[in-house]
Amino acid sequence: MKRQRDALSIGIDVGGTSLRASVVDSNGQVIDSTQSPTPHSARALERGLDRAVKELAARHPVSAVGLAVAGFVNSDRTSVRFAPHLPWVNTPVAKQMSERIGLPVVLEHDANSAAWAEYRFGAAADGRNVVMVAIGTGIGAALLIDGRIYRGSYGVAPELGHIQVVPDGRACPCGKRGCWERYCSGTALVDTAVEFLASDQGSSTILARDVFLDPGSLTGRRIASAAQEGDEIARRTMEDFARWLGMGLALVSDVYDPDLIVIAGGVATSSSQFLDQAREHYGRLITGAGHRPLAQIRSTQLGEAAGMIGAADLARSEFLTSSR
Ligand SMILES: [Zn+2]
Repeated sequence: MKRQRDALSIGIDVGGTSLRASVVDSNGQVIDSTQSPTPHSARALERGLDRAVKELAARHPVSAVGLAVAGFVNSDRTSVRFAPHLPWVNTPVAKQMSERIGLPVVLEHDANSAAWAEYRFGAAADGRNVVMVAIGTGIGAALLIDGRIYRGSYGVAPELGHIQVVPDGRACPCGKRGCWERYCSGTALVDTAVEFLASDQGSSTILARDVFLDPGSLTGRRIASAAQEGDEIARRTMEDFARWLGMGLALVSDVYDPDLIVIAGGVATSSSQFLDQAREHYGRLITGAGHRPLAQIRSTQLGEAAGMIGAADLARSEFLTSSR
């Protein structure tokens, strides 16, 4: 097949719970998709990826595959060093999968893939130095400098979620304490609401009833909706989240001085409830406040599809050369 820049490629989001694969065109449009649960063994995972690619390749003339991986990818993007929810450890995934599938394969960290998609086709299209913060159970982050993905020296950058913001603060699964994501994530919303409820800081009808009926039922989404329904503890929890978000983004901007920040991840669906407040805190807490331009802070445009779209586009630009 003649390889052209406008050829179709496949992007696969290799997440801890599901494999989501899409055929993506050169404008970032998803034209077909398939999804299956993520298998637990390396062998079954590779079989699952093979199956997804073959299913889509049977319906479309695809030329390359990009894998967006929730884990550490080495800086030449051929191997997965370690992924907490996947069975790959120091595995040369690109080579293995390419031999198996018969198409060129490129790997990328999932946050980098998503940021790349937003830069090419979405919320960051007019950005130059872009920070993406994907807020879900934790914080995934990516950085584009002059329109290029910044990976650091060893492919690990930037772990913004684990910057310590509270000495001896809340325990983090990474082994440290007081990491930013412990105060600014879906998980953090629940922890903060539980703390406020326990210390009786304000009246609560909705959340207090939920916790009374089922202590495990609180979620970030529930807290956001309760805040909209007027629950005072939920509202204060969202305010606290907005403050931590603004503070963290100010810290990040003191290092990177971006012109654009994209907020993605599950929590972004409630961004109308915290983004304006977060912008205020950001503008107040950044070094040199009032004497420097501020980054624009926006919500994701591509949402959950961003990782797949970005991986597909990276695969296309890596392997397909223009026929002109
Ligand atoms: Zn941490």
